[in-house]
Amino acid sequence: MVLSLPGPVEEALSRLEAAGFAAYAVGGCVRDHVLGFTPHDYDICSAATPDDTLRVFAGERIIETGLKHGTVTVLLSGMPLEITTFRVDGAYSDGRHPDEVRFTARVEDDLSRRDFTINAMAYSPRDGLVDPFGGQEDCKRGVIRCVGAPAARFGEDALRILRALRFSSRLGFPIEEATAGAVREGKAQLCHVSRERIAVELTGLLQGKDAVSVLWQFPQVVETVLPELHPLLSGPDWEKTLLTVNAVPRDVYLRWAAFLRLCGPAAAGSADLARGILKSLKMSGKIMDTVSELVQLQDAELRPETLQEMLMRVGPERLGQLIPLRQAVRISQQNESMERIAQDTEALKEKLDTLLRENVCCTLAQLAVNGKDMAALGLRGSAIGKTLQELLLQVVRGQLPNQRDALLNAAKQG
Ligand code: ATP
Ligand code: MG
Repeated sequence: MVLSLPGPVEEALSRLEAAGFAAYAVGGCVRDHVLGFTPHDYDICSAATPDDTLRVFAGERIIETGLKHGTVTVLLSGMPLEITTFRVDGAYSDGRHPDEVRFTARVEDDLSRRDFTINAMAYSPRDGLVDPFGGQEDCKRGVIRCVGAPAARFGEDALRILRALRFSSRLGFPIEEATAGAVREGKAQLCHVSRERIAVELTGLLQGKDAVSVLWQFPQVVETVLPELHPLLSGPDWEKTLLTVNAVPRDVYLRWAAFLRLCGPAAAGSADLARGILKSLKMSGKIMDTVSELVQLQDAELRPETLQEMLMRVGPERLGQLIPLRQAVRISQQNESMERIAQDTEALKEKLDTLLRENVCCTLAQLAVNGKDMAALGLRGSAIGKTLQELLLQVVRGQLPNQRDALLNAAKQG
């Protein structure tokens, strides 16, 4: 098998080999090539120690951040390449990190510590594909399978349980039976995984193309990392949740909002619980705010006639997210035709585009009068803001034109 690697990767491999060190592209990039996808980055493994690698690439730009883990990042023609020494992991006593790592001279040993067969392939133009665990076959058949005994591998590092789910969701590959069994058996060990790592893997899972199928097959794993979801997972709203997740675009905010929209009692309760869950996962303020607002707004009835008022209330970004979320919520309720929902959604999207393109008035700043005008009419203190708000509301409802004279008149009478 011949893979066409980018120039800088080929150059790095040949420079290491010329210096006497075996070197391969490895892991995700080889998997992606075998599957016919374009890798988003390239990792290299080599018999060279970090010091050897620094010598081979002396004069090139080096990023030293990973040095203490045995990783040297070299920039070749602007492409960052992570070069890691072949290694095997020692015992794992904390269920997450090896107690020690040892360098090894054989690429096969390095591949044996990797998580799944599809991730345990190496490639070099000189040796071709190195695939001791049947990764190519599993790529072809489309399965996620542990390298070695699944229970032992998950016992070493419980993060692999979530990685199995994430890769299954992203690639649309089912998890092979023995590996799936060990996922279910091993879930209690997820307590060793940091909340930040759990957040990354869950987000990846939710954004994958087969998220719904993975969530449906492994609710116990979801419950182990998010015990707050116990009532949802054991009740009738779980199916509705999955239908919603399936129907929103694979965007981080929309997928999380769809996933958590029914996690608590009523929309307001779910919004609060969603915020708490995302906070416990140490996610960013932007994710917490956006998702909990979307959950709060999930039942808002959107109509073209009142869209400008909604735009005033929630702003353009949120409204742009709310339209596809509302579409998914309606799909999940299964009491309207898909055609009807699609038509309504299309009309809302068009209306929003028009409102934004025409830069219609939806903020106080866009109103044709301001606080000074109100003061000139004799208004004082809080009456100024209140009057401006009322004028804005009448403008967005189409009851007043956004024209200075008309607004001043209305203010005088009001
Ligand atoms: P992605 O496209 O998501 O980056 P990837 O396969 O490159 O996929 P990384 O997390 O970047 O995934 O890891 C690179 C490689 O390191 C994997 O392909 C796998 O061989 C190995 N690996 C990563 N994490 C683990 C782990 N927890 N246990 C065993 N091997 C791992
Ligand atoms: Mg990677």
